[in-house]
Amino acid sequence: MNLCPLCNGLAKVSIECSKCHSNLDDHGKLTDYFDDYSAYMDIDMVKMFDGDPKSLENHQCLHYFYCQNCQHEEIKAIDELDSFQ
Ligand SMILES: [Zn+2]
Ligand SMILES: [Zn+2]
Repeated sequence: MNLCPLCNGLAKVSIECSKCHSNLDDHGKLTDYFDDYSAYMDIDMVKMFDGDPKSLENHQCLHYFYCQNCQHEEIKAIDELDSFQ
C-alpha cells in the first residue's frame, strides 16, 4: 500500500508559482475536486497535467495547487511513499 505524504500529513512540499514565485497552497487531492467540483473544473486543467491516465497506477497522487497571489492554478503529481518502508 502506498501513501501520499501530503494527504497523510507526513510531509509538506513547497511548490513555487511558475508565474509569480510565491508559494502555492496545497488544496488537496485532485480527485476530491472531480467529485465535488467537476461542474466548474475546466477540462483544460486536466490537460495541464500530461493527461496520462496511468499516473494513479504509478503511485502518484495528483494535487491541486493554487496561488493566492496571482490566482494561478497548477496540478502536481506527488510521489507516494511505500508504507512498508
Ligand atoms: Zn495526496
Ligand atoms: Zn502566482
